[in-house]
Amino acid sequence: MAAPLRTAVAPLRAAATAATAATMSAAAAPARPRVAVIGAGFAGLAAALELQRSGRCDVTVLEASGRPGGRASTMQLPSGTALEIGATWFHGLGDEDEPNPVFQQALEAGLIDANPEAEQWWSSQFLLPCATQPLSKEQQVAVTHTLAAWGEAIDDLPPDAPGTTADHLRRAGEQLLASGKLGEEHLELAERVWRWREQLQRAMDGCHSTSEQSAQGHALYDEMPGGVNCPLPAGMQAVAEHMAAKVADLRFQHAVQRIEWGSAPSGTSNSSGGSGSGSGSCAARVRIACSNGDSLEADAAIVTVSLGVLQARHHQLFSPALPPQKVAAIERLRIGCVNKFFLDFGAPEDVAGSGSSAGGGESPTSGSSPAVSYSLLWSEAWEGASSSDTFTAAVPSAVEAQLPSWAKGIFSIRFGGPETKRPQLAGKSPDGHAAAAGAADTAPAAAGSSSGAPDNNEEEEEEAQFIVPSAEPEQPRCYQGVAWVSGEAAVEMEAASDEEVLCTLRQLAGLFPQLQLPPGASWDRVRLYRSRWGTDPLFRGSYSYIPAGGSPADVAALAAPICLPAGPHSAAAVSAAGGEAAAPAAGSTPVLLFAGEACHVKYIGTMHGAAITGQAAAAQLLAAWQHTE
Ligand SMILES: Cc1cc2nc3c(=O)[nH]c(=O)nc-3n(C[C@H](O)[C@H](O)[C@H](O)COP(=O)(O)OP(=O)(O)OC[C@H]3O[C@@H](n4cnc5c(N)ncnc54)[C@H](O)[C@@H]3O)c2cc1C
Repeated sequence: MAAPLRTAVAPLRAAATAATAATMSAAAAPARPRVAVIGAGFAGLAAALELQRSGRCDVTVLEASGRPGGRASTMQLPSGTALEIGATWFHGLGDEDEPNPVFQQALEAGLIDANPEAEQWWSSQFLLPCATQPLSKEQQVAVTHTLAAWGEAIDDLPPDAPGTTADHLRRAGEQLLASGKLGEEHLELAERVWRWREQLQRAMDGCHSTSEQSAQGHALYDEMPGGVNCPLPAGMQAVAEHMAAKVADLRFQHAVQRIEWGSAPSGTSNSSGGSGSGSGSCAARVRIACSNGDSLEADAAIVTVSLGVLQARHHQLFSPALPPQKVAAIERLRIGCVNKFFLDFGAPEDVAGSGSSAGGGESPTSGSSPAVSYSLLWSEAWEGASSSDTFTAAVPSAVEAQLPSWAKGIFSIRFGGPETKRPQLAGKSPDGHAAAAGAADTAPAAAGSSSGAPDNNEEEEEEAQFIVPSAEPEQPRCYQGVAWVSGEAAVEMEAASDEEVLCTLRQLAGLFPQLQLPPGASWDRVRLYRSRWGTDPLFRGSYSYIPAGGSPADVAALAAPICLPAGPHSAAAVSAAGGEAAAPAAGSTPVLLFAGEACHVKYIGTMHGAAITGQAAAAQLLAAWQHTE
């Protein structure tokens, strides 16, 4: 779908790199340059390893937190189970032409098989509030029609699609209603399904709402080839740890407070590489101050902090201020919020020993409880609906009306699945991956692969696959549930206390009587863990998207390096690198480079997108220096 523009972007990037190299030839390369990399997420780690591999410079990575991985964060529970708080899947393993650099690192570390099984098509039970029976056959057909119409509307948008994603969905909704495929009695169900699907879309694309998302941005996103949606049994943070172990100079608890660039800082340089170290060249072009009092001088800095951090702090972080094109791009692009709640009902042996059984009489270790996923069909109207839509919001039940609005942003709850990495049980191998592949699963990204409406019988078969959990589901042997919440609701949830959240989740479980806890699990013995990506000052959001009014040019402007002449350094002499293809002026070299998931049009919002931009920034610097040796 987005192929024409994607293929157009690649030569632009190559041209920019070549132009950078050519125009650098007149610039004097520092004797042994030092590069500061800010942030140890996948962008920063990939950049550092690329530079280190070249052997042509010294690299120091400054990371504010005490761990590598950034938004790939795997939390270890006392029970031995690990929770994937952030990134969960490799969205494509890549191929020879375009390898997925994060997957390659996982392979190198022995964390995964070369041909891992991707999560297969997912199935989930749609739940209506207060309903005690599963959806009827007729209702399931209506659900299938509704989801097919959704997929047709936005799965294959052209790369120059106008307007917002919601504009296209609105038209599709109206056509669906006019098509007569839905009986009058199913309109309300269709509206609920439409809204549920929109919440899922928010989680997939990281947007606050499809009404705010550029349709072009949505169309340009693409999966890497091969094995779309592979979880990692060891957890994604393990890949970052493997990469971090190879970085010679990585300093944790080094929160960068200030980046002075563009004028030669006072003081002398040395090449020791320790605290307060200099570049070894005649005058450092970047001076970095950390909140712990450390400082570093370097010839260039690769900034990989999230778009959310840049938006909140670019005024304080950079001195002098960033050029206007860069600031405009930072301010125009958006980062959305996607959060997960984890419900920990205890380790299997704890549950087995407790004798408590809220969801059935069988022993939890007997392997009787299928992994199961529930999709919640709330009554609220889809906010993107126009007055001409005949989708009508249902009247909420009294309980639903009392719930905080963020609760209605929870669109999926499941027990067992790739976000929970299972503990190794005696005599059994760790099975997180196998379990994930067999689990009934509402994996947000997996759902995105739906395409076009199938024909009659095929449609019913597909519908059965969609609605009913797998015939022989994997048996979860630990009792974590995970719920996803996206958009504004995800932001609002962060303000609620743990007690409020737990209380709301209990109410929610009461509202959907078909939502069964795994056998042995009980609301009386549950611990809550949750992410707060929106308010975490080191991230300020989950992943980025191009909003209405924005364009791929903003991503290019964000990613463009800022270059300085090699002579006396002055911010006034900064080259106006406003876009990806903009070549620095002759004799100038990059001084500030930008990388991270928000810097990649096609792979925006992903780990591999982040890593590829880190590698690209490193390659730009190396190309610039190559011609000066
Ligand atoms: C809930 C969730 C689910 C996701 N699911 C997936 C998925 O399934 N698949 C996928 O591919 N992607 C997924 N992603 C997205 C993926 O995690 C990110 O796109 C990717 O990890 C971003 O990497 P990055 O290097 O660009 O930024 P980050 O990971 O944010 O790294 C930036 C680093 O900078 C550090 N930092 C911030 N401020 C400072 C400072 N002042 N000084 C020094 N250091 C600083 C941060 O601590 C952080 O370590 C998910 C993200 C979330 C939140």
